[in-house]
Amino acid sequence: MTQPIPAYIGVGSNLADPVRQVRAALVALGGLKQTRLLRCSSLYVSAPLGPAEQPDYINAVAAIATELDPEALLTQLQDLERAAGRIRAPDGLRWGPRVLDLDLLLYGMLRQRSATLTLPHPGIGQRAFVLRPLLEIAPDLTIPGLSPLEQLLQQCPPPAARVLDEDSH
Ligand code: ATP
Ligand code: CA
Ligand code: CA
Repeated sequence: MTQPIPAYIGVGSNLADPVRQVRAALVALGGLKQTRLLRCSSLYVSAPLGPAEQPDYINAVAAIATELDPEALLTQLQDLERAAGRIRAPDGLRWGPRVLDLDLLLYGMLRQRSATLTLPHPGIGQRAFVLRPLLEIAPDLTIPGLSPLEQLLQQCPPPAARVLDEDSH
């Protein structure tokens, strides 16, 4: 039997009731085959990265333990994105609005760069909406090749990320 690997998934949405999308995605992650959901962060709000004329984002991070290999896990994540109704822009517009974005942030201590999968996820060290939730659920986490989380967050460029007041939703 394969040993389960701890992995971290970044969840984001800014369309079609983003709070509901992110909550549903966190539940769906727990339903993936050969995978167990370990922890979920709070929900965070931040201004969009890239094109500014789009709604704010809701983000969260989940910790899982999985027996899937990284490529299989990415495929499962993309299936969940599609099931939520995400349509990839034909012009390949980066960082445009989306119903659901699931990024594989970390897969154990694995470092790799292929055409389809880079690990750790290249944005991880510069994004407050990833670093804040990671710090909440795994404060002692080491990201291969990067400084401690707290230090990365201090040096992080805007946009900032704040915890969503869940009572208002
Ligand atoms: P960013 O990757 O900067 O957060 P994005 O999430 O908007 O931008 P997508 O359009 O969702 O980018 O993904 C583009 C491609 O990134 C995917 O087709 C996938 O193959 C590739 N990719 C590479 N590494 C990863 C990773 N660690 N997690 C998710 N996708 C990845
Ligand atoms: Ca992303
Ligand atoms: Ca993505």
